[in-house]
Amino acid sequence: MNRRRKFWGWGWEDERADPLQVQAAEAALRGWLGMHELEVAGPPRLDQLSLRPPRIAPPPALEPLISVTAFDRASHCYGKSYRDLIRALRADFANPPDLVAFPANESDVVALLDWCSGARVAAIPYGGGSSVCGGIEPEVGESFIGTLSIDLGKMQKVLEVDERSRAARIQAGVFGPALEEQLRPQGLTLRHYPQSFEFSTLGGWIATRSGGHFATQFTHIDELVEALRVVTPAGLIETRRLPGDGAGPSPERLFIGSEGALGIITEAWMRLFVRPRFRAKASALYADFANGAEAVRLLAQSGLNPANCRLLDAREAMMNGVAGGEHAVLLIGFESHDHALDGWLKRALELARDAGGEVQQSSIRTSDDGAGVRGGSADAWRGAFLRAPYLRDELVARGAFVETFETAITWDRFRALDSAVRAAAESAARESNGGGTSVLVTCRITHAYSDGAAPYFTVICPARRGAELEQWDLIKTRVTDAMLEHGGTVTHHHAVGRDFRRWYERQEPAPYQRALAAAKSAVDPAGVLNPGVLLAAGARP
Ligand SMILES: Cc1cc2nc3c(=O)[nH]c(=O)nc-3n(C[C@H](O)[C@H](O)[C@H](O)COP(=O)(O)OP(=O)(O)OC[C@H]3O[C@@H](n4cnc5c(N)ncnc54)[C@H](O)[C@@H]3O)c2cc1C
Repeated sequence: MNRRRKFWGWGWEDERADPLQVQAAEAALRGWLGMHELEVAGPPRLDQLSLRPPRIAPPPALEPLISVTAFDRASHCYGKSYRDLIRALRADFANPPDLVAFPANESDVVALLDWCSGARVAAIPYGGGSSVCGGIEPEVGESFIGTLSIDLGKMQKVLEVDERSRAARIQAGVFGPALEEQLRPQGLTLRHYPQSFEFSTLGGWIATRSGGHFATQFTHIDELVEALRVVTPAGLIETRRLPGDGAGPSPERLFIGSEGALGIITEAWMRLFVRPRFRAKASALYADFANGAEAVRLLAQSGLNPANCRLLDAREAMMNGVAGGEHAVLLIGFESHDHALDGWLKRALELARDAGGEVQQSSIRTSDDGAGVRGGSADAWRGAFLRAPYLRDELVARGAFVETFETAITWDRFRALDSAVRAAAESAARESNGGGTSVLVTCRITHAYSDGAAPYFTVICPARRGAELEQWDLIKTRVTDAMLEHGGTVTHHHAVGRDFRRWYERQEPAPYQRALAAAKSAVDPAGVLNPGVLLAAGARP
């Protein structure tokens, strides 16, 4: 069956959240937030949209690569953030890309960028379109004659596997499931599972420095990138395959996190893992979130490097069906293809107890037969985690404001930032609704480091219908200001895009920003690549 993704929201056209889950979520909106009248908006229909006609036409040689169908243009108009969903539910597709290109190979990408540079057409690299920061939206300012979304989706093959070095050369447009499917016959895996895994691509992960499966050590995609091929308007850049390199600043690192503003990543050599055979996991309960965070610190500083080390506060644990709402829950997991992990888990649980945790004996599971370890809090959490985006869309359609905010902070400032962000989110959410509104703010630690952690906040409250974007702006501003004031970053893994650039500009030193602008001028002299992302459109060093 030829399945299509929705042009307006998360996931497949023929897939929605489980109706029982939706009912439970409706009950929660009524009970927790006092939202008794749940009027359901949308979804928008394609025949409802009157898209602005394309302002540009491609040269004849490029025509076979280009689509101007309403479905393709609407699908490439927005990412998957709350702001995007609100505008889509309003059937507001006022600024679609004029054209959408589907290159089949690197030469096509070169030809497309040549045309864009010469004709002053803004070129927007597009992977899975799961950006939550305005990274693929064709909001490029006035100095271009039109916009072209360049969708890498046809470039989806694993081209070569070097089993001895345990690495593979992979095309950038491959989606998570297709990538893992192609590596499976060799028993290999990239083991990079962002929540958006099913609908995001290798190129998108590299371009946004995405954060995935591993809660410690290989937290971001960065460490898994061995070498890159990048098409820039100034020429092709291919970096060398090396296990490590001390020759000056790393060329890969210039493009990892460049968000489509410096070039189009077409291929990458990625470091792989053998599929794990040994697994060990358990969970521990904490009466106090701060004690759970202390356990995460001890674990992150122990050298044990657990693959899973995620702390959910009591509300987050309850919302995900992991615990009853009185305790924070710490999920600990180890995996290896090579050795049994009982010793690792035993020591980790000692540390979890040292911080005041109550280890749930029934949660302890180990396996050495490759079958995995099924059941328990971690599986309940994972199931809820993967279904969450479908449910998010249903809640938003029912008039709930649902947004997530993530950052990273050193341990010495963790508690102050956590309190400040929760307070900022609650007061801004109340204010945005004229006061008096119930607000739900939850937190989990998604990734942990020896020197700090990445807290991830979810804010749910009644949306101000008709003024959702203003409400989002107020809450986002207050929360992100609090993060920066307390030493955090504007993003640990969601990227900067267009929406968060104003905070990125605040946190990065001016000479560094000039250096980035100079790099852009060198590889993209006409400034056509994703204008407005990371740097203001037309920024000069
Ligand atoms: C429900 C949900 C859950 C999410 N969970 C996570 C998570 O767990 N971890 C995480 O890190 N992020 C997460 N995200 C954010 C998003 O999925 C990531 O940023 C992801 O890496 C984007 O990949 P993509 O292929 O969808 O890229 P897109 O959204 O298409 O593009 C993202 C950016 O990368 C650029 N780009 C894309 N492909 C290329 C390329 N080949 N060359 C150059 N530039 C390119 C685009 O121009 C854009 O600036 C989530 C988003 C949603 C909606």
